[in-house]
Order: sequence, then C-alpha cells, then structure tokens
Amino acid sequence: MRKITIIGAGQGGLQLGIGLLSRGYDVTLVSNRTAEQISQGRVMSSQSMYDMAVGYERDLDLAFWDDACPPISGVHFRVGGSDGVTPIDWRSPMRAPGQSVDQRIKMPAWMAEFERRGGHLVIADAGVPDLERYAADADLVIVASGKGAVGALFERDAERSQFDAPLRTVSLTYVHGMKPREDFTALNISVNPGIGEYVNFPSLTHTGACDIINLECIPGGPMDCWQEVDSPEAHFKLAVKLIREFFPWEADRCTDLRLTDALGTLAGRITPTVRRPVGKLPSGAVVLGMADALVLNDPITGQGSNNASKCAALYMEAIVQHGDEAFDEAWMQATFEAYWDYAKWVTRFTNTHLLPPPPQVLKIFGACGENPALAARVANAFDDPRSLAPWYYDAAEADRFIDSFAVAA
Ligand SMILES: Cc1cc2nc3c(=O)[nH]c(=O)nc-3n(C[C@H](O)[C@H](O)[C@H](O)COP(=O)(O)OP(=O)(O)OC[C@H]3O[C@@H](n4cnc5c(N)ncnc54)[C@H](O)[C@@H]3O)c2cc1C
Repeated sequence: MRKITIIGAGQGGLQLGIGLLSRGYDVTLVSNRTAEQISQGRVMSSQSMYDMAVGYERDLDLAFWDDACPPISGVHFRVGGSDGVTPIDWRSPMRAPGQSVDQRIKMPAWMAEFERRGGHLVIADAGVPDLERYAADADLVIVASGKGAVGALFERDAERSQFDAPLRTVSLTYVHGMKPREDFTALNISVNPGIGEYVNFPSLTHTGACDIINLECIPGGPMDCWQEVDSPEAHFKLAVKLIREFFPWEADRCTDLRLTDALGTLAGRITPTVRRPVGKLPSGAVVLGMADALVLNDPITGQGSNNASKCAALYMEAIVQHGDEAFDEAWMQATFEAYWDYAKWVTRFTNTHLLPPPPQVLKIFGACGENPALAARVANAFDDPRSLAPWYYDAAEADRFIDSFAVAA
C-alpha cells in the first residue's frame, strides 16, 4: 500500500487525505491543532463554497451539512456611495446553491471521519526536520499548511505573483439576527469605490444558522481602522458602523444583530502570493505543496476553499493515475501545472477585483442590470471563474459578449 503524508488539516489536506483513503492509500495527516482546539478557536474564514467544490465533497460522502446549512442561492451586486445611491445594481440566482460551513465545525468533523476511515492523525507542528522524516518514510509528502510558516519552503513565483503587499485589510464578523432578504438568500456584494467592499452571506456555525459580514478595507482608507479594536464587542460595533456609513443600502438588515460568539471575529491582511510547487529539503528530498500553501489569494472573491477542494480532487486523481511510479519532481511540477491551469483564472478574477475596475467590467456590470441571462453568467462564475475569460478581461471581447446577449434577448 502506498504511503502518503499530508501536512495540514484544512479544507485541502483533509479532503485529499480522506479521498486517498477511499482509493486504498495509507494516509497520515499532521495537524498542528487538535480537533478540540479548532472547534473552540477563532473563526478562520468565511468559506463560501459553490456547487463544483461542494460536489467534490459530496463525491467523498463528506457533505454532512447539506440539510443543516442555509443555502447561498444567488448573487446581488451593487456599487454605490455613502449617499446610498447605487448606480450599479443587479441580481441573479445561481445555477445551484452554495454553502458556508464554519471551518470550526467542518474540520473537527472531518478529522474524526478521517480517523474513522482508517487514517493516521498526528498532532504536531511540522518543521523541516519533521518533513525530512516524513519524506524518508512515505512515498509522497504533500504540504497543505495554508498560511502556515512551513509554506516558506516553497519559493515565491515572482512572475505569477502580481502583488507584493496586501491590498485590503480584511475583517470577518459572524452574526445572528440579520434581516433575511426578501427574494433569495445571496452572496451580497457591495462596492464603495476607493473605500472597500462589504460582502455577506448566510452560514452555519456552532450556534446554528448565521450570517457572515466580510469587510474588505482599502489600506489607509476610512474603513481601515481595525488596528484600534481591542474586544469582540468593539469589533462588532465597528463592523455595523462601517456598514451604516459606507453601505447604507444594507443598514436596514443590520438593526438587530448580535455576535455569534466571542471568537466570531477576525481581522488581518493577506499578501496574494503564488509559489513554486516543489519544496526541496536539505537532504535533497522533495515535497509538493497544495491549495493556499501555493496559491494564496485575497478573500475578496471568496475562492480559497473552492480552490482547495478543486486542488484536492485534481491531486487525488493525479496520484491514483501515477500508479506505482515514483512521485518525483517532474510529476510534482506537472501535477501543479494542471492545477494552475484552473487556479490562474481564479487568481486573475480575484486580482482584477483588488484594483479599480477596468472599464469593460463596469460595462458588463451595467449590462447585467438589463439582461438576466448575462447576470446569470457572472453569478455562476463564482462557481467556475474560468467561464469569465476572455470577455471579462478584454474591452473588445466584452462588447462582443454583451452584444451576443442583446441579440439573444
Ligand atoms: C477572512 C477570510 C475569508 C475567507 N472567505 C472565503 C470564502 O468565503 N470562500 C472561500 O472559498 N475561501 C475563503 N477564504 C479562504 C479559505 O479559508 C482558504 O483558502 C482555505 O481554508 C484554504 O485551505 P487550505 O487547506 O489550503 O489551508 P487551511 O484551511 O488554512 O488549512 C491549513 C491547516 O494546516 C495547519 N498547519 C499549518 N502549518 C502546519 C504545520 N507546520 N504542521 C501541521 N499543521 C499545520 C493549519 O493549522 C491549518 O489547520 C477566506 C479566508 C480568509 C482569511
């Protein structure tokens, strides 16, 4: 039986580990936190996931929360100012609903499931000497450590990394009591140009169904004031104040909010980074990175957990297809390139939204308000951002694309 060791019990590592168990591999998963620590810890993400990504979980009988988790049924996109006027305003249902299960629920449940299905769970903070040991003992070591420090083993890819500093200060607030929308549950995206974005959607946390407030604050701007926050209550109050001030069209839904729990808040910054996939250990042994450890995006488009699921599905097939052959550097490189073939479109979509929107994107958003079929194309792109190319990124292609919808209408 081939032995695979995975570092990191997040979306990528656990999904891949459980998938490999189902294909008959001997899998060890190393986590620097126990299930209890994850469950009782701080929120880590808003983890909205869409149909394709949740589908890979369903394939492995891992979508335990399909009934309990409130669906994210569509997208509502608005651009407006502090005066409350929203010149861009379109909405569309998605082809299939998405969902967001608090990782504090999902990861501990999957850790238990991993062990139940025969996996070996080791609690340790893996450093380079440990990786040497795991590499000597296993046929393949995969590093799925997310933003963990051990990921520095993978060299930054300067060509593929568009930025070298964070473009947003990111804040999460898990709340109960948000007034439901009147049409459908949605990924609500509001943009206040030059200031930041407010994204919210329903989720499932320890205390039941909730909503997550994501504020994406342009550094140095008026929403970038999280450094002064010193308590969960202060964080909560600031989130509501910023919504009232900069996204007043959403304020009415926020009159009766309360925090889900004292650890239902998070603030920080992410430098979007793409890394080279093969990590070389001092002995010359090689390890392969995956998901956030290699392709880390700002959460503005809510794609990282989706990426991790898709990366896990792709790596699993590549490992199985490779049979009994050695998992050498060439295989690692090729396996990552196959993933990058997908992930580069996510990175492009995400990075586009971190900068002021190009004119064709504004034009597309304007046309979405007039044309439900076009709006549906954009809404469904959250499930598969590849579908935005080439028209999202090129003015002439955008005109042609918009026109094709006008003819059809
Ligand atoms: C504020 C915010 C909001 C987000 N919202 C969304 C969203 O709405 N939709 C979406 O799709 N994505 C979202 N994301 C991104 C998403 O959470 C991540 O992309 C996803 O969790 C990545 O999965 P992963 O398995 O690569 O890493 P992670 O989920 O980070 O898991 C890595 C695991 O490895 C462990 N680890 C690290 N180092 C070591 C070590 N040395 N030894 C052992 N274990 C180690 C960590 O403790 C962790 O448990 C958001 C992220 C943030 C920060």
